[in-house]
Amino acid sequence: MCGIVGAIADRDIVPILMEGLRRLEYRGYDSTGVAVVGGTGKLTLQRAVGKVASLQKLLDAAPHGGSLGLAHSRWATHGGVTEANAHPHVSCGRIAVIHNGIIENYAAIKSELTAGGYDFTSETDSEVIGHLVHSFVVQGLDLREAVQAAVARFHGAYAIVVIDAEQPDRVVAARIASPLVVGLGEGENFVASDVQALLPVTRRFQFLEEGDVADVRREGVRVFDASGAEVERPVHESSLSADAVERGEYAHYMLKEIYEQPRAIADTLSERMVDGKVLEAILGPRAAEILPKIQQLHIVACGTSWHAGMGVIPVLPRPRRPPRLPR
Ligand code: GLU
Repeated sequence: MCGIVGAIADRDIVPILMEGLRRLEYRGYDSTGVAVVGGTGKLTLQRAVGKVASLQKLLDAAPHGGSLGLAHSRWATHGGVTEANAHPHVSCGRIAVIHNGIIENYAAIKSELTAGGYDFTSETDSEVIGHLVHSFVVQGLDLREAVQAAVARFHGAYAIVVIDAEQPDRVVAARIASPLVVGLGEGENFVASDVQALLPVTRRFQFLEEGDVADVRREGVRVFDASGAEVERPVHESSLSADAVERGEYAHYMLKEIYEQPRAIADTLSERMVDGKVLEAILGPRAAEILPKIQQLHIVACGTSWHAGMGVIPVLPRPRRPPRLPR
């Protein structure tokens, strides 16, 4: 699982995006990136393999600023851990997209887009999103309509956030199976994978439902359901403060970890399951090729992880060859 933050405001949103990424670090990730539309209307992009701190270093060396933007922490499923595969992905210098999850039918869409003249610069499934949205925008759809048309083509689990440098008054977000919240500010609005990312800037949230598309502008947010009808999603006031969030309402951290296990497992798997089955691709780009060849599985752990490992052994298939025992 990994992180998404998007913002539209009348101030520089880069520090908000970066703080959001730091607050989502607990979810695990392998690379990060940020795309911003600055005052000149130009889209700038910065990506880095490794920690949020590595991205921050690049930004400190070559500052980016703007009042519209998005940031991502990636957990690779399609393609290696490289800067080119890190999000955001940009189409034709104007559409920037971030994505959590897996677009299962990306290969067919990629062939179509390649035949239509789009160049792909990454190995990810996610890159089709930006190009497909771009192809609809140049046909005359506005950004929200283009995202609605694009998501109608996708099978899989995803949270997506898109901006267009030529429509700098909005951020458009969509979700199926991956979590996404809208954070409501005064004259500024935000989206993120969870509320923790946005607590420094707001306590008011709308939780998007399955298939929702949100058109997020400075002055307000409109939400459309999977059928395209405009809907009202309730506004929740979070009682968490920005610094209490680590421990939340729990008396101590161990209690928090125990009670959060079901939610943590559900959150981790939600964007990696389709039709009740965990997608093989979460184990890496070559999973389908490697998994059938596995003969033995070693679980190396101590403490709680050791107990969890012991729990896995009875449900594993029997090894094809008896394991060699040490003398
Ligand atoms: N499937 C996408 C990729 O490999 C998104 C992974 C994620 O959820 O971070 O880039």
